[in-house]
Amino acid sequence: MQRAKVTEPFGYIIKPFDERDLHTSIEVALRRSLAETAIRVALEKEKELSELKSRFWSIAAHEFRTPMTSILSCAQLLERYDRELPEERRRECLYLIQKSVKAMNQLLDDVLSVGRAESNTLKFTPNLVDIEQFCQEIVEEMQFNSSHRHQILFNCQGDCGRVYLDPSLLWHILSNLLSNAIKYSPQGGEVTLNLTCLEQEIILQVKDCGIGIPVEERQLLFEPFQRASNVGQIPGTGLGLTMVKKCLDLHRGKILVESSLGQGTTFTIELPVDRAVASAPHLL
Ligand code: ATP
Ligand code: MG
Repeated sequence: MQRAKVTEPFGYIIKPFDERDLHTSIEVALRRSLAETAIRVALEKEKELSELKSRFWSIAAHEFRTPMTSILSCAQLLERYDRELPEERRRECLYLIQKSVKAMNQLLDDVLSVGRAESNTLKFTPNLVDIEQFCQEIVEEMQFNSSHRHQILFNCQGDCGRVYLDPSLLWHILSNLLSNAIKYSPQGGEVTLNLTCLEQEIILQVKDCGIGIPVEERQLLFEPFQRASNVGQIPGTGLGLTMVKKCLDLHRGKILVESSLGQGTTFTIELPVDRAVASAPHLL
């Protein structure tokens, strides 16, 4: 018994034994071994998750430092050399302060949204949405906020009508994809949103003629703070696509990327829709 104990056995059997005892002992030992493996895997996952969370917050905190440093140095410059600074330099400083505060605000919004998605408090609240009108409106809003160098076009195919989707999640998805398409086409040009309505699903495609994404980096970009190596000076934090993926998961949707370096990128999303709900909303 003493020698058996130190080997931490899953069970033991004392001689002489009959076949039934042997079977029972083996059965019990196998079950205990399976249970122990499951606990070990769960603990390992928990550890990984908490490491991921602390990494997320430390990168987020780091991202806040850049705009805060700009604000601090501009404020110090204005305080020390207020009268000696040429008017143009003063304006530049004030502009940089405003730009940094806006960037911090945006970052805070993004970090909070991803945080909500991570902690499962981002909720799926579907409603009947006129999808064609919804897309039209978001395209107009994006065109209004972008420079004249970009033309945002919208095409619709199929009989769309009203579909059962979460408009706020869909807004996150499309605004992130469209703003990426604009931002990563620094030369300007056309950005197209294609909507295709089928019986069981709707397909949304955001197409640009921008810088493209290197093939080996495509799948990583859905993880927080990951950016491709060809972004150069184009600003960003790497949270947009994380949010897109979280919102799509809540819709049980899929996303595909096709891209060619220097030629452009197409993101395709497929969202399953329940036509039965749309035709009989009183059943909700
Ligand atoms: P932000 O958090 O402000 O959205 P971001 O745009 O860098 O910052 P994501 O939207 O998550 O972050 O995109 C991740 C990366 O994917 C980008 O940094 C860029 O490298 C690449 N990417 C995304 N969309 C495109 C696109 N249309 N064309 C080229 N690269 C893209
Ligand atoms: Mg983005």
